Amino acid sequence: MTDDVVSALLRALERAPDDDALRLHAAELLMQSGRTSEAIVHLGMLLAADPRHPRAAVLMASALSGAPSVEHSETPRQETGASFDWDAAEGDVGEIVAPAFVEAEPSGEDEPAVHAESPALTLADVGGMEQVKERLTASFLAPLRNPELRRLYGKRLRGGLLLYGPPGCGKTHLARALAGELGASFVTVRLNDVLDPYLGQSEHNLHILFDEARRHAPCVIFLDEVDALGQRRTGMGSAAMRGVVSQLLEELDGVAAQTGNEGVYVLAATNQPWDVDVALRRPGRLDRTVLVLPPDREARAAIFRTHLRDRPIEGVDVVELARRTEGYSGADIAHICETASEIALLDSVRSGDARLIQMADLLGAIDDVQPSIGDWLASARNVALFGNTDGQYDELKAYLKKTKRL
Ligand code: ATP
Repeated sequence: MTDDVVSALLRALERAPDDDALRLHAAELLMQSGRTSEAIVHLGMLLAADPRHPRAAVLMASALSGAPSVEHSETPRQETGASFDWDAAEGDVGEIVAPAFVEAEPSGEDEPAVHAESPALTLADVGGMEQVKERLTASFLAPLRNPELRRLYGKRLRGGLLLYGPPGCGKTHLARALAGELGASFVTVRLNDVLDPYLGQSEHNLHILFDEARRHAPCVIFLDEVDALGQRRTGMGSAAMRGVVSQLLEELDGVAAQTGNEGVYVLAATNQPWDVDVALRRPGRLDRTVLVLPPDREARAAIFRTHLRDRPIEGVDVVELARRTEGYSGADIAHICETASEIALLDSVRSGDARLIQMADLLGAIDDVQPSIGDWLASARNVALFGNTDGQYDELKAYLKKTKRL
């Protein structure tokens, strides 16, 4: 499927926002393209207008359950004026730009470089977020540090931890801090590190990364954007991508079996847990989930401190800045600090007189930078409303209620 078709439909929808048939069609195409979160937003709008909308309900259930890829509906496609070759789209793997897979012997060259960091961070460097820190300590650190508990609950310590929440809100920061707490090295695995055009080579690459991590034990393997790496296999048309996911499952089971894997811990992060292959979340795999919410006031003050630490500032009140940035992510705050620096720099260039970054620059930057997590919250709201049948998103629902988004 070309992105052009989907873009054309979305543009048409902007012009005709009340056209439910068009919206439904757009949602179907988004799902076919692997853009599940965007589809969820549109399906949520249809269900909000008509909670009994049969096709929207089926699609929403499919989007949220990890069920097989959406079947082609009976919706007449010509209504929208867009034509689409469904058969030609079978190999489409959605937002992931998968290379054309080639049948050939892997060369063995260009194996993925493994960068094992040694994070100096600890949980003390994570500002605020007390609840998350408590949960991470209870579910991850305390059992690992206590040999008695390990003996007693050895089995339950297997498996990894899945951090989820809006983008830019500290999942990677927390994962690094956990590695720092354990005195472990830290290896990040992303889809791009793994994918290779030669058949079977991607699986081999993944295996090499896990093997290297084992050699660096104690080591935290951080699977970043695990929704892309572990996309629901049934939603993918490409056999090669399915192979990557199956290999990941094998590696996770290897870590869980603890054969030669002592000291290897798997942490994963995603903004879209509803897109993560359900097989990855079974017991012994990524079986514990921790919600990482937008930074609270104390966390925001800490993030301002971090990002202003090496900049020339004067008269800056980070507590006041934190008070004014409710709903902003850590990444938004980093952007605010960057923007304020630019304002001061341009001013200095204009006047020929170097000056420090002041509170007014930061307040001006806050006005310029909008919080970026609105789309995520819209998807999360729909998931909490329509996809929380087994209570796995109760914590998310409670947060949305508390912040009056539900
Ligand atoms: P993404 O989902 O986009 O990968 P993320 O959730 O992993 O994002 P991070 O990259 O960890 O987010 O955080 C974004 C920025 O905010 C980083 O600069 C990080 O250091 C900072 N940050 C986030 N939370 C905190 C915190 N509690 N204390 C200090 N700094 C923080």
